[in-house]
Amino acid sequence: MTTPTETPAATFTLIELPYEMSALAPNVSEETLRYHHGKHLQTYVNNVNNLISDTRFVTMTLEDIVRQADGSLYNNAAQVLNHNLYFLTLAPSSVAKHTPEGPLAAAIKRDFGSFEAMKVQLAKAATSLFGSGWVWLAENRNGNLVILSESNAGNPLRHGLTPLLGIDVWEHAYYIDYRNDRARSIDQLWDVIDWQVVEDRYGKH
Ligand code: MN
Repeated sequence: MTTPTETPAATFTLIELPYEMSALAPNVSEETLRYHHGKHLQTYVNNVNNLISDTRFVTMTLEDIVRQADGSLYNNAAQVLNHNLYFLTLAPSSVAKHTPEGPLAAAIKRDFGSFEAMKVQLAKAATSLFGSGWVWLAENRNGNLVILSESNAGNPLRHGLTPLLGIDVWEHAYYIDYRNDRARSIDQLWDVIDWQVVEDRYGKH
């Protein structure tokens, strides 16, 4: 309990989505979004706030907690960061930028051959990841792109890489809409990924 003269402990809050809950349907249904954002992500946010209370982590950014924490705090903090990145790369199909341009497009061509080839590789990593986890398009310090398969809450920051695009392959991300068909859920996700957001994250470190 803090008195009014003390600085309140930092707390993280649930991000607001920059689109309506129904705006990604049918690719991602309103029901999926309501559970994924309002229940799953909210729980991770609550857990982080409880776990950092009265610890050295309370003054840190979410990214620094993800870089430094272990165990339950790492898992929950990484899940908050992962979902923030994920939800903010999604946009209604009518407004999403469907193909990257500029330096990111050039890097994709250089490192994967083509945008289509990169998508195939990312989808393959997503469908073949065993159990729950994330696949990432990430950037190293030289601006090179890599695809990373991570179990559970794994985030590229742990490997000194910058996360650009994360695909959530936990069942909660797709089971309501696609049941067991993870491959189809990835296939349908491309249409609601906004490459403008991914471009804006590239080359920023
Ligand atoms: Mn999720």
